[in-house]
Amino acid sequence: MSHFIGIDVGGTKIMGVVVDPATGEIIERRKAPTPRSEPDKLPGAIADVVSELIGLQGAPVGIGVGVPGLVDHNGVLHYGPNVPGVRKLDIAGDLRAQFGIPVVAENDASCAALAEHRLGAARGTMHAVIVTQGTGIGGGLIVGGRLLRGANGFAGEPGHMMVDRSGPLCACGRHGCWEAVSSGTGLANLARQIVEEGGGERILELAGGEPAHIKGEHVSAAMAEGNDDAAEVLDRFAGWVAEGIASLITLLDPDVIVLGGGLTVINQHFIADVRERVMPKVMGGTHRPAVPIVPARLGAEAGAIGAAVNARDLLMGVG
Ligand SMILES: [Zn+2]
Repeated sequence: MSHFIGIDVGGTKIMGVVVDPATGEIIERRKAPTPRSEPDKLPGAIADVVSELIGLQGAPVGIGVGVPGLVDHNGVLHYGPNVPGVRKLDIAGDLRAQFGIPVVAENDASCAALAEHRLGAARGTMHAVIVTQGTGIGGGLIVGGRLLRGANGFAGEPGHMMVDRSGPLCACGRHGCWEAVSSGTGLANLARQIVEEGGGERILELAGGEPAHIKGEHVSAAMAEGNDDAAEVLDRFAGWVAEGIASLITLLDPDVIVLGGGLTVINQHFIADVRERVMPKVMGGTHRPAVPIVPARLGAEAGAIGAAVNARDLLMGVG
């Protein structure tokens, strides 16, 4: 038997897959809601998905788990802004004790990055930056063909690099993080700025007249109607996305930048727009090759597949 189980713990759901990590082929999949308001129940909810998958496909060689937050080298989740109330949770240790199978845990976006590098859009590169834009921004850095984990396991959080000190409040408690202007939440923040400036009538209307209720999807909906204010929000958004990517290129000199995540505004046209804005913001941008910016290939299951790939790599001594 050569299969692995990969689990992706998201803010709203826990996704589990049985996968052949060499090909990325998903043999079985199961989903369960994340007990967001009851953090004590999170380990049990993850274990239930694992149990179900073992019941369907038998015991795997190993289990990989991706969790949204700071996960150390021992698989302990220390903190995650999107899983409030969870502190020092020994994800890997608890599952290992329960199932008697090797378990590794890693940051969820790092898992998605690993999947894109081994099987998706960054395959065959040595240096890659994978940015996942959803409610927040996740990231994973591939350096020299390996996932950059850092001294404690906490490397690769580009969403919380500061880009604007006077910018909107971020989920992490600081102001002006890249995530606060370049994620789904960021899109809403930029729309609120337009409303504060006296515009954005249609966006506000779609949000029921309440600025606090504005979401990224209201901007998308107004955009689909050809609304000018929504186009202005998207323009500012693309500018901020490009700003962060340019800094990542200046810092890491990657072969490729991969953009993934569930934001509907991110399409081929948007990526082309960002691509045009990035190199002029990179240090010496006109004197170096333009870094390709490409869409992710593995979709919403990248995190779960990557968690399984991560387990295979670490347990087999590859990564
Ligand atoms: Zn932040």
